[in-house]
Order: sequence, then C-alpha cells, then structure tokens
Amino acid sequence: MLSSNASIRLRIGVMPYQKGMEPAQLIDQAVIACNLAKSDYNEHLFIFDEQMRNTEAREQRLLNDLRHSLDNGEFIIYYQPKYDVTTDNPKLVGVEALIRWDHPELGMIPPDDFIPLFERNGQIGLVDKFVRSESVKQVSKWKEKYGYIIPVSVNISRVEILDNTFETSLDILLEENGLSKDALKLEVTESAYIENADQFINIITSLRQSGYKIEMDDFGSGYSSLNMLSFMPIDVLKMDRAFIKDIDKNEKDIRLVELIIGIAKNLKVPVIAEGVETKTQLQLLKKLGCEMVQGFYFSRPLPAAEFEKNILNKQKK
Ligand code: C2E
Ligand code: CA
Ligand code: CA
Repeated sequence: MLSSNASIRLRIGVMPYQKGMEPAQLIDQAVIACNLAKSDYNEHLFIFDEQMRNTEAREQRLLNDLRHSLDNGEFIIYYQPKYDVTTDNPKLVGVEALIRWDHPELGMIPPDDFIPLFERNGQIGLVDKFVRSESVKQVSKWKEKYGYIIPVSVNISRVEILDNTFETSLDILLEENGLSKDALKLEVTESAYIENADQFINIITSLRQSGYKIEMDDFGSGYSSLNMLSFMPIDVLKMDRAFIKDIDKNEKDIRLVELIIGIAKNLKVPVIAEGVETKTQLQLLKKLGCEMVQGFYFSRPLPAAEFEKNILNKQKK
C-alpha cells in the first residue's frame, strides 16, 4: 500500500511530430527529453529540442566508441599528487588517478563529460577496471624504478562496489602486480552512500576488514547527515573543493572548514583538502589542522611520464 506521505513527481517528455517520423522514434525522443532535462522541480513538461538532439547524438557517439577507444589506447590516466603537510616539508603520500579521453575526432574529453553518462548506462565498470589495472601497473613500475610504493587512489562508482566480484578482482589485480593492499586506495563519493545505505555500508565495512582503505570523496557536497557519518566506515575524509575555493576570501568558509576538520577529528580520521590552488589557502588549511592536501598549488594532474619528471625525479631521498 502506498504510504500517505509518498511524494510523486510528474515529468512529461514531448516530441513534436515531424513528417516521416515513426511512432517508436517519437516515443524515444520524448523519453530522452524527460531524461536529459535538468531536474527543475517547478517544471513538468520537457520538449525535445535541438540542443537535446546534439547532446543525445554526442552521448550516443561516446557510448558507441567506448570499447574501441579502450582497445585503441585513447584513454589516458593522469596522476595528481597528495601531500602530507603536517611538517614544514610537504611529503608525497600518494596519487589520485584521473582519467581523460583523447578522442581522435572529438579531442580531449574531460571525465565529467563521460563518467556520469557511463554510470547511467552501466558501462562505468569497463572504464574503472581499465583505470585500476593501468594505475596499479604504474605503481608497480614506480616501485621498481624508485624503490618505494606510491599508493594510488582510484575513483570507484557505486555500481561497482555493489558488484559481488569487486573485491576478488582487486585482490587478483594486486597479486598479479606483486603489491599489497596499501598500494591501492578507493575513493568513494559521499553521495554513493545514500541509497540502500545499510547494504552499501556492509560492503564497505567488509572491504575495510580485508585491508582496503576507503577515502570518502567530495565530503560536504550535501548528502549525508552528521548522524549517518558517525557509522560510515571510512579511513580518510576528502573535503569537497567547494569549501576551499573561497576560503581565503570568506570568513564563513573558514568556519565551515574548521567544522569539518572538527568532525573528522571526532571520527578519528585524517582530512585531505582537494582543490588547493594558492599558498594562502594552504597556510589557512594547515592552521586549521588539515593534514593532507591535493591541488593545482602543488601540481595539476599529469600523465605518468610528466609525473616522473616533475614530481618523482625531484623528490628528496
Ligand atoms: P574528483 O574525484 O573530485 O577529482 C578531483 C577533480 O578536481 C579532478 O577533476 C581534478 O583535476 C580537479 N582538481 C584537482 N585539483 C584542483 C585544483 O586545485 N583546482 C581545480 N579547479 N580543480 C582541481 P577531473 O580530473 O576533471 O575529474 C572530475 C571528476 O570525474 C572526478 O572528481 C571524479 O568524480 C570523476 N573521475 C575522474 N576520473 C575517474 C575515474 O577513473 N573513474 C571514475 N569513476 N570517476 C572519475
Ligand atoms: Ca576523487
Ligand atoms: Ca573530489
């Protein structure tokens, strides 16, 4: 039975008839209008237009090209360093793997243009598997070359975590590359925890019990309640870039960052600030007790060869 306070939202997609169109095509495009329309709660009627047609065509193209592009080496992984800033000399503590698509015809495509699309269409596993495999191989190469392990953090989509072969696939990958679980960290965005929270939290708990470290990404972007946070299993809290952006200009943001760092201290997890671009931001964050930072101030994400040249070859022994 429907509960008395269920809320129902009506969305109607419309495709104006044009001569020669088949009924199935009309319905498809009306559905696309419904799905592509940005969530505006005041609107109910969405009409398929030229812009939607272009977005749809581009998305279809990306979906069609995915497998071939993976085989063709068009996806490249960039690495961005993470530093421990609790001492005077920042110490490299890991890297985040960030994917880019160097499409032969569409040019360099940033992940925000294709990750959400592949998540919606269930293809994200293909991309993330590739990222994990390449970045773990890279860590193994760096271990050979430099003599130490640089842990790599990879972004994991919710659907992948729910896949019951996920943990085994991680174990196999690490074993094949002669690495332990410290070499691979999993960044899981805060919003992923919301739906079916109990089931999700159980899986994350089991991954942690097996020795994997979980970094909660985009923390503070607005999803979890403080109450939920107290039982979310995490090892590191990554503060969303939105808090850092104006921290040097806005007193209110300083208070918010202070609050987040306070929460993390209570949960006994370290905080990493992302999107640090200036020295002032860095100094403020250090003063507020933030342990780790990542951002353009230290380095933009770089392809492996440049990462070696600009970061690893300059590391003090
Ligand atoms: P994210 O996980 O929050 O990654 C951080 C984003 O902030 C990256 O954008 C990075 O380039 C950018 N960034 C880092 N430092 C700074 C800074 O100082 N200033 C500014 N303005 N930006 C900074 P990018 O690489 O475009 O990635 C966007 C998002 O796409 C990521 O956000 C992540 O959610 C997703 N993504 C990237 N690679 C992957 C992947 O391999 N798998 C999955 N599932 N998602 C990925
Ligand atoms: Ca991330
Ligand atoms: Ca993030």
